[in-house]
Amino acid sequence: MLTIGICGGGVGGLTAALALIKSGHKVEIFERSKHFGRIGADINLTPNAVHALDGLGIGNTLRQTAAKPEYRISRTWDTGEETSRLEMQGDRYDAPQLTIHRADLVSALCGALPDGALHFGASIAGVEHLEDGARILFEGCRSKDFDLVIGADGIHSVVRNTLFGKDDPKFTGLVSYRAVFAREKAKDIPNLDSFTKWWGPNSDLQLVVFPLLRGDEVFVFATTPQENWSEEGWTLPGDIEKLRDTYADFHPEVLELLNCCTEVTCSALHVREPMEAWSKGNITILGDAAHPMVPFMAQGATMAIEDGVVLSLALANATTKTVPAALDVYEGARRDRTARVQRGSLANNWLKRPENADWVYAYKAWDALLSV
Ligand SMILES: Cc1cc2nc3c(=O)[nH]c(=O)nc-3n(C[C@H](O)[C@H](O)[C@H](O)COP(=O)(O)OP(=O)(O)OC[C@H]3O[C@@H](n4cnc5c(N)ncnc54)[C@H](O)[C@@H]3O)c2cc1C
Repeated sequence: MLTIGICGGGVGGLTAALALIKSGHKVEIFERSKHFGRIGADINLTPNAVHALDGLGIGNTLRQTAAKPEYRISRTWDTGEETSRLEMQGDRYDAPQLTIHRADLVSALCGALPDGALHFGASIAGVEHLEDGARILFEGCRSKDFDLVIGADGIHSVVRNTLFGKDDPKFTGLVSYRAVFAREKAKDIPNLDSFTKWWGPNSDLQLVVFPLLRGDEVFVFATTPQENWSEEGWTLPGDIEKLRDTYADFHPEVLELLNCCTEVTCSALHVREPMEAWSKGNITILGDAAHPMVPFMAQGATMAIEDGVVLSLALANATTKTVPAALDVYEGARRDRTARVQRGSLANNWLKRPENADWVYAYKAWDALLSV
């Protein structure tokens, strides 16, 4: 059994914690927020994510509040022509696609943790290597030692910066808008039981719509170009009129969707290049700390979830001495796949036309091939 300290209690950190506890390790998670609020709206969990989460025993809880999009559809911005359609609730994959409020996913993950594993209000300032272990340094001079430390602290990861040097993510020139409204407001709009991406005249413009909360709510995501982003904070109130103006030439169904939105939030989209290594000594990183990506394949959280499961498999029989070798195995199993998804997300053409989506959706983290 290893003692493991996880920096960051997002989707990646919480999944890794549950998977590592299942492997027999003793885990503590340190999250800087004082509590989790109902922020961040949506998460689209494709079958590869749901399969991984089912293996942690939280699938039934997720299915109680999630919606189950029937199809994943692509349509053209002005004509409305359908250019691809993939069935998401059939038996092609061993799990369905679920779309869920991020807060409901986080709550399901937290609900499965043992008491005392998650510490709120614990802001990490850095990490240090120890002989056969690692130390977490908290804001305010406190520290704690572990056999292994995992940085799951997101795109601005302190752990990543401490291990590999500071390297700011790049602003893509795109801002994303998000809104949720009651399904009953949009009774006459078809296809709201599916995940639909409307592809714009260029890659700066796209609108995605899918059901949330057992289908009682509708989620809308759209992007607009912007020269720079200097605003403090991640998610800010957005200007719905500006969004409607930008999409004014789109198909009438899109205009109706935007008319149903009253409040929107906006946040900047950032990227990094894939990294060559994620670990040093008895410290590693996962999720957005290791491979942040633009959300155009809706795989960022899903990759973090897969990372957590595969990391737990690689560490199943590890001792303090064999942790670095186990981390090599973890990286070996994850780096190529996450880099491919990072690059595919940036290319922004996923399922615009019919293609075989199995390399993404049929992946089973619990069956990952582990080799040295
Ligand atoms: C607009 C948008 C839409 C998206 N849609 C999807 C989608 O549909 N499906 C999907 O799979 N992904 C989606 N993603 C991506 C997804 O949100 C991220 O990839 C995912 O949240 C990464 O999880 P994580 O746990 O690695 O990082 P995070 O979710 O960022 O969690 C990091 C955690 O660490 C904490 N933390 C940070 N610094 C410190 C510190 N110093 N000390 C202590 N704690 C700290 C933070 O408070 C946070 O709780 C989307 C992203 C965006 C921007």
